[in-house]
Amino acid sequence: MSIPTSESETFTVDKKTEENTPVYYDKSSNGKSRTNVSYHYNPEASRYHYGTLHPMKPFRLMLTDHLVISYKLYEKMDLYTPRRATKEELLEFHAEDYVNFLQTASPHTKLSDQVLAQFNIGDDCPIFDGMYDYSTIYAGASLDATRKLISGMSDIAINWSGGLHHAKKYEPSGFCYVNDIVLSIINLLRVHPRVMYIDIDLHHGDGVQEAFYTTDRVMTVSFHKYNGEFFPGTGSVDEVGLGKGKNYAINVPLRDGIDDESYTRLFKSIMEPLITKFQPTCIVQQCGADSLGYDRLGCFNLNIRAHGDCVNFIKSFGIPMLVVGGGGYTPRNVSRLWCYETSVLNDVNLDPKIPNYLATYDWFGPDYSLHPQLDGRIDNKNSKKYLESVKQEILEQIRYLNHAPSVQMQEIPPDITGLTEDEEQLIKELNEESDFQRATQKVKDEARDTEIMA
Ligand SMILES: [Zn+2]
Repeated sequence: MSIPTSESETFTVDKKTEENTPVYYDKSSNGKSRTNVSYHYNPEASRYHYGTLHPMKPFRLMLTDHLVISYKLYEKMDLYTPRRATKEELLEFHAEDYVNFLQTASPHTKLSDQVLAQFNIGDDCPIFDGMYDYSTIYAGASLDATRKLISGMSDIAINWSGGLHHAKKYEPSGFCYVNDIVLSIINLLRVHPRVMYIDIDLHHGDGVQEAFYTTDRVMTVSFHKYNGEFFPGTGSVDEVGLGKGKNYAINVPLRDGIDDESYTRLFKSIMEPLITKFQPTCIVQQCGADSLGYDRLGCFNLNIRAHGDCVNFIKSFGIPMLVVGGGGYTPRNVSRLWCYETSVLNDVNLDPKIPNYLATYDWFGPDYSLHPQLDGRIDNKNSKKYLESVKQEILEQIRYLNHAPSVQMQEIPPDITGLTEDEEQLIKELNEESDFQRATQKVKDEARDTEIMA
């Protein structure tokens, strides 16, 4: 007999032992979770490529799904392979000429510079093979999830392929072509009087904020890195909404390197009063994984448990939830996170040792753990004083909110965003002014920083 030379050889177990070793433990005593969770995933979504050098890798969805399956979480949830969104469904939010463009553009056809500029095509949002199909697949999964929430079949519906929060009505932005979140919220508003959107991606959830900027029926809350320049450039605490929507957009601008303790404390201390006051009847949570430490495009210090703690906190309110993915550019950590969050939403604890029969096991070395240490790479630039001042500004903003605005359901606008032409024009003008605004905002932000640091 030879001496084992690696850990995997030492710990090799026979198939029977392996099959009988639990990979998860129920947190509830009777082994039955009280919440109905559904998981919406079309494996086709993982097969598209933005391009070799592009940081967005749809195969992270395959890694996530492999982990979810290897932990046997399929035993806990209803699984659905959703159909694609139809063109009509995309048109509920997106402009027809933009959807036509997505449908017809291909890397094999030459387009004029003017058309490329009109539709914001470039390094971030290239034209790639199957771009339209890919968009209808992930949007179809989010819409499928909302249908299960609306029918009451699910209390929590998960779509890790969704969460593409930057896409705009007329153009793609920040790797996002179709805004599945806006489409989902529009669908939810048909039956839900108030929907809350919570975004814990590294980047500001600008596309969703903009779509619902003038309504009090959707409260958007985004936690993100902000310095006036970092993509997408928006997300200052002063962006609060317009008209009826005034004070229903909440922005929590953060600096580099925020750690587990400060993030989760701030998150809970802001979300608790917001939920209590707004009383959403449905919540959409975007779980962008680029807010983790060691993300390829990231600058925060969060560990997987802290990110998941934010999801668990929202779940604890017992309000129906649509949970979607988003950014995340270190695929092995993205998949660890979303598998972990799937377990959190199903009320089970996972064995931190990744099951070694996983087909993509090699991706998770050298530690093969669900919880690698991801903090400590970047200095935390968020002083206690700074975070406290942000929190106070937001709590002050909440004071102006009416309690839970009610709505007569017959008022649900046929148009998904419910924007009037005047409001739409106003948003357009604001976008045109945005460069100027950002410059002014930067001066204001710097002044505030100086004040806080002083
Ligand atoms: Zn992001």
